[in-house]
Amino acid sequence: MSYKLILFGPPGAGKGTQAALISKEYGLRHISTGDIFRKHMKDQTDLGKEILDYMNKGLLVPDELTIKIALNEIKDLNGFILDGFPRTIEQVKALEQNSSVDAAFYIGVSEDTAIKRLCGRKTCSNKTCNEVYHMVDRKPKLENICDKCNSSLYQRSDDNEETVKTRLKEYNTKTAPLLNHYMHKNKLLMIMKKQ
Ligand SMILES: [Zn+2]
Repeated sequence: MSYKLILFGPPGAGKGTQAALISKEYGLRHISTGDIFRKHMKDQTDLGKEILDYMNKGLLVPDELTIKIALNEIKDLNGFILDGFPRTIEQVKALEQNSSVDAAFYIGVSEDTAIKRLCGRKTCSNKTCNEVYHMVDRKPKLENICDKCNSSLYQRSDDNEETVKTRLKEYNTKTAPLLNHYMHKNKLLMIMKKQ
């Protein structure tokens, strides 16, 4: 049995971690648009340069671009878990024209917690590892070194307080309406995190 799942929620809710768990549990391909965007930025493609500009400002990458990338990733798949897409009602519509969705997971977290988590977050620089650490509640054993693969850690350029606040505002106006949409479709599953 293959499922088509999506996962959304405010920045800092730990969506990537949840998506990885669900993907492993059900044997589904985990597609993170954020990871795809970051790969483009690292490789300094034209697309990557464009994306970097939006992300550094805390803004969502525009619908047209995101839709094209995401739909291309899922076009041959029978099952998947989408993380970071759809993020706007426009993106939801584009997805629904191209694929069914079995369930939408909402990962919720309070705004205070989101800010605290994002601002202290560090990510492994090894792209095949991508382990995420936190300077408050999930420190690496050695400072700035990944426990798993010994690569160095870095702070994502969109994980500073100013940008995080803009990201939360973007979330509230553009992504939060997905809650109602999937609730009305009876496809919403909510996971609320205390911290
Ligand atoms: Zn690592």
